[in-house]
Amino acid sequence: MPKPVLVVASQNLHKVGEIKVILSDLPLVVKGADEAGLPQVIEDGATFEDNAVKKALTAAKALGCMALADDSGLMVDWLNGEPGVHSARYAGSPTNDQLNNEKLLSKLGGVPWEKRDARFVCVIALATPEGEVITYTGTCPGKIAFEPRGNNGFGYDPLFVVPELSQTFAELDPEVKNRISHRAKALAQLRQGLREKFA
Ligand code: IMP
Repeated sequence: MPKPVLVVASQNLHKVGEIKVILSDLPLVVKGADEAGLPQVIEDGATFEDNAVKKALTAAKALGCMALADDSGLMVDWLNGEPGVHSARYAGSPTNDQLNNEKLLSKLGGVPWEKRDARFVCVIALATPEGEVITYTGTCPGKIAFEPRGNNGFGYDPLFVVPELSQTFAELDPEVKNRISHRAKALAQLRQGLREKFA
């Protein structure tokens, strides 16, 4: 029997590579979007789950095989969950990580440490061409620093403090971040779900 095909519906080659490695021992052929050809999807959902499900379902239906997609971002309690699904373009479009971080810091101006709670969230959706969808959610709690620290990572990493380690994601060894992150947690659940289904 040929192995089932699973397409990772993302243009981000780094993400595709990471997922391929994590799922490499499962009886699946995991393909990136470039190899498969991917329809364009507008990420206009109100939640990470909405966006991940839309991307995964669109790809699965268009390609006629299983597809997975993710959506992630930062939620800050004091800002009622902002920047949330707008994390990538918080400071408008076009924007960049530095402008997004500056906007976040200015919105938290004068807010004391004990009220700077936040979390990174990652939702991964796994869809079949028949329209079945399962989602896996990983979260990583932390706090927003008063100023950026560290040079690793991307996005809001320089502002995201892991309280138990007293370091920002951008100060941590990438290997440590990749063990405790929202994405790592969602991927671990996906792997478990696929093992139960296929291994
Ligand atoms: P995407 O889901 O990969 O498109 O990520 C959306 C946005 O959320 C990114 O552009 C970042 O601003 C933010 N984000 C998601 N994950 C991380 C992370 O691990 N570190 C820092 N920022 C992140």
